[in-house]
Amino acid sequence: MFGKVKACNLTVAPERCANECNLVLLGATGSGKSALIVKFLTKRFISEYDPRLEDIYSSEEMVDQQPVVLRVMDTYDQDGPVNTERYVSWASAFIVVYSIENQDSFKVCHKYLDTLSLHKKTCEVPIVLLGNKLDLERYRQVSKSTGEELALRFGCLFYEISACLDFHDVQQIFHEAVRRVRLR
Ligand code: GDP
Ligand code: MG
Repeated sequence: MFGKVKACNLTVAPERCANECNLVLLGATGSGKSALIVKFLTKRFISEYDPRLEDIYSSEEMVDQQPVVLRVMDTYDQDGPVNTERYVSWASAFIVVYSIENQDSFKVCHKYLDTLSLHKKTCEVPIVLLGNKLDLERYRQVSKSTGEELALRFGCLFYEISACLDFHDVQQIFHEAVRRVRLR
């Protein structure tokens, strides 16, 4: 079950609250943030999505047999990290997304990770670096090891995924973010 959250519900991150998690997706336009969120919430891949949409969705999930209210913020930044205040204090975890077939989107991830590492608050927040569009392997521009190295450097989890392939793989990534928040 999921729904949209009204803007007035934009409170600060639930402090060590085991059954709530605020997850923010960041990354270059076109990397597949919205497609991943829609897949996670509906099990469907929607190929065309308004890139300027910035919304928060709420979904009641079971992660390791424990309920959690997972709020997911879809973001739109035209030129990399700007106005970070709108999510920094709210987030309990981040997923920073690039497309494995787009080197520039990987560079944008690097900028996001640099920016997040400058904030005292977000230093302590779990971050997943996520290479999307794994189905486009034949057009790959960013090697898996390059992704792994960047993740290691910033202490992030790292996965490669495709928003248009298996739902459970996508679900696992969102659930893993919840697990990491619980471990904090
Ligand atoms: P956003 O700007 O980061 O929110 O990116 P979108 O979710 O709008 O996706 C940008 C484009 O990439 C859309 O045309 C999507 O259909 C496409 N896309 C997203 N994820 C994948 C994927 O895993 N594989 C492929 N082949 N296309 C994808
Ligand atoms: Mg989008």
